[in-house]
Amino acid sequence: MWAVEKPGFDTGKTFDDCAALIKNAALRANMTAIRQNILNMSSDYDARGELAELHLIAQHQGVANVEASDLKKNYTSRMARKGVPARAVYDALKILPKNNRCPYCNYGSVETLDHVLTKDLYPAFSVAPINLVGCCDRCNRLKGEAAPTGPNDGYLHPYFDRVNHAVWLVAEVAHSTPAAATFRAENLSGLDGALFSRIQTQFDGLELARLYSDAASDEIVDIADVLEEVFQSGGAEAVAAHLERQRESRRQANLNSWRAALYDALAASNWYCDGGFRLGGAN
Ligand SMILES: [Zn+2]
Repeated sequence: MWAVEKPGFDTGKTFDDCAALIKNAALRANMTAIRQNILNMSSDYDARGELAELHLIAQHQGVANVEASDLKKNYTSRMARKGVPARAVYDALKILPKNNRCPYCNYGSVETLDHVLTKDLYPAFSVAPINLVGCCDRCNRLKGEAAPTGPNDGYLHPYFDRVNHAVWLVAEVAHSTPAAATFRAENLSGLDGALFSRIQTQFDGLELARLYSDAASDEIVDIADVLEEVFQSGGAEAVAAHLERQRESRRQANLNSWRAALYDALAASNWYCDGGFRLGGAN
């Protein structure tokens, strides 16, 4: 749900590079014959993506005389494989996400390409650059075969959907020792209902609450020492001010990062600022 600039790679050339590697002459001819269908379907995909209407694209088995298994092989054997011509597009797509950070979770590193509309259900888009997004292995696995059934579900598409102009990620501090944080998506800023519903789908499907909560536990341990120092010189008020400053810096970088949400919750917690930050012992 973090934006990636839409790639401008040539869909036709990528398809041609894959088709040219097919050894069986009959299959190669059939593949070449559907080139225009693939281009038309891909530009329909692009138009529907802009309108958040990917759920209106029909699932399909194959295209004309080409079966799904042969379309999918374009990806596995003729694009993702090292050394083939279309691998250049694969590699170029993979480095599009900023800082090599997975655009689905904003946590893991990009390790693979995800088919936003899965190649099992939408094989026509197996090698369409517009359908391929760099992401982490965890998200790729958890997303699985999920397919949109309406405007309210389906994952956000990093090339089309923009949701980070408003805060929707919220954390809450648990009064444990050491402190912990829980995360949830909440429509605080009046985002469009369907859009927020898709944020929720993705947040739940990728188990981001658990991921962020684990990361927050590490962060809470990391900052305890410096907070003690701030507390000794200025008390709970100084700790709150310090945490607010941290939150602002993180929000500048990314309004809905788990760190921005965490610091917002820590700064707002009187319990935490008044000694809850300590890792152990009685306070
Ligand atoms: Zn991820």
